[in-house]
Amino acid sequence: MALKGAIIELHMKLYNTLTKKKQVCKPLKKGVVSLYTCGPTVYNYAHIGNLRTYIFADVLERSLRYEGFRVKRVMNITDVGHLTGDVDYGEDKVEQEAKKEKKTVWQIAEYYTKAFFDDAAELNIKKPATVVRATEAIAEQIKLIERLVKKGYAYETEQAVYFDVAQFKAYGKLSGQSLSEKLITSRGEVVEDSNKHNPADFAVWFKRVGRHANHVMHWPAPWGDGFPGWHIECSAISAKQLGQPFDIHTGGVDHIGTHHENEIAQSQAAYGKPLANIWMHGEFLVMDKQKMAKSKGSFVTLSAIKNKGFDPLAYRYLALTSHYRSQLSFSFASLTAAQTAYHNLLEEIARPRIISKHKKTNTYQKRFNLHVSDDLGTPQALAVLWEAVKDPGLSRALLLAFVKQVDMVFGLDLLNRAKKIAKEQGNIPAEVKKLGKERFAFRKANSFDKADKIRLRLVKLGYEIKDQEQGFEIKKIVK
Ligand code: AMP
Ligand code: ZN
Repeated sequence: MALKGAIIELHMKLYNTLTKKKQVCKPLKKGVVSLYTCGPTVYNYAHIGNLRTYIFADVLERSLRYEGFRVKRVMNITDVGHLTGDVDYGEDKVEQEAKKEKKTVWQIAEYYTKAFFDDAAELNIKKPATVVRATEAIAEQIKLIERLVKKGYAYETEQAVYFDVAQFKAYGKLSGQSLSEKLITSRGEVVEDSNKHNPADFAVWFKRVGRHANHVMHWPAPWGDGFPGWHIECSAISAKQLGQPFDIHTGGVDHIGTHHENEIAQSQAAYGKPLANIWMHGEFLVMDKQKMAKSKGSFVTLSAIKNKGFDPLAYRYLALTSHYRSQLSFSFASLTAAQTAYHNLLEEIARPRIISKHKKTNTYQKRFNLHVSDDLGTPQALAVLWEAVKDPGLSRALLLAFVKQVDMVFGLDLLNRAKKIAKEQGNIPAEVKKLGKERFAFRKANSFDKADKIRLRLVKLGYEIKDQEQGFEIKKIVK
């Protein structure tokens, strides 16, 4: 689909984890892409690894819109049923945190949901049009489980209702792991219910008995009072909001082997058709060679990087410098470099351009578009932007028109911020200008000590001075 006013035809190609190939995005409904994203489990602050995955999904949505598609976007919020062990053992993460913080489960879920969206907003991540909490979709989940039981895909024990993976022949297609391989890996895991048919079977409904007898969040159901397992919410919410199949499903790579495999099994078994056509997964953010994880305790939040004086959009810039399917290694040194690059980019866009020979045409937009539509090639698209800002023959008007398009995809607020900087630079107070002239005179007279003192005074006033061959340039220091 062509972008309005763009010179070229764009065909968004996206890598599909299911087929292990890039494919052209052809939505089921012409012109409208249905997109589902697995949302956060709200028992703690999101770390910047989680946020990387949501930046990826946001860039995907923006890129689709940029190409002229409408996007119907849905995300869930996991506020019940996600146990500390992904394979049905341990305690509900939200309930565990409520005990720790001496708050109600509802307070915990509400607090961390708000914290998540506050972080997302600071990173210019658009809130999906439809956000559904798992606890708001209990009726849909129960209906889906009833269907699975009726069709023989789920069975009841004294403790829970399980999905019977052996009944679903296509189990493991997404991860490429056969059921027998999965059984070998799940052999070492704790099996809390000896009546499970198969260790790889997963709970779709936990009864409020045994280890879950005091579970605070609970609802009546045909199998007794209880609460849903983690995976069923995404199957139920996506089917209700987007229908089945829908176009694109996103999440992090850690979802491939269990959560998404289970979502596919439940949905496909219940309705006899695929859940989603394209499955996209964001790679990990790693720190000290390890996946950043809440459970390991070694994670960095957005507040932590803000407290160290970093701009949230510098983190977004850092995320865009690597492809979403590559691991990104985080360090404060790389964040510092990203912040400098981001601010330099803003200054380059803001600076006046005195051009003797104007270019009438340029290929920047076209090349940028091609990279974006090639499975969201943000690092290459960013390199094209840098080429454009460094091009001495590109007029300000052409550059700003290009930057406006770039902003639609990158969400780096380039145009607004650059305009603000340009305005500030144009408003250098007379006193500051006078000091600059005095310093220049001292420099010419080789009084470098005096010239340096004035430089320090200017820094204290918030300005930096750059020497040029025949003069100097004063700029407001961008924080
Ligand atoms: P959670 O809140 O644990 O359900 O995770 C929210 C999202 O973050 C999921 O899509 C995960 O796949 C993703 N995620 C978890 N850890 C990382 C990481 N280190 N880097 C990137 N994404 C992650
Ligand atoms: Zn999900």
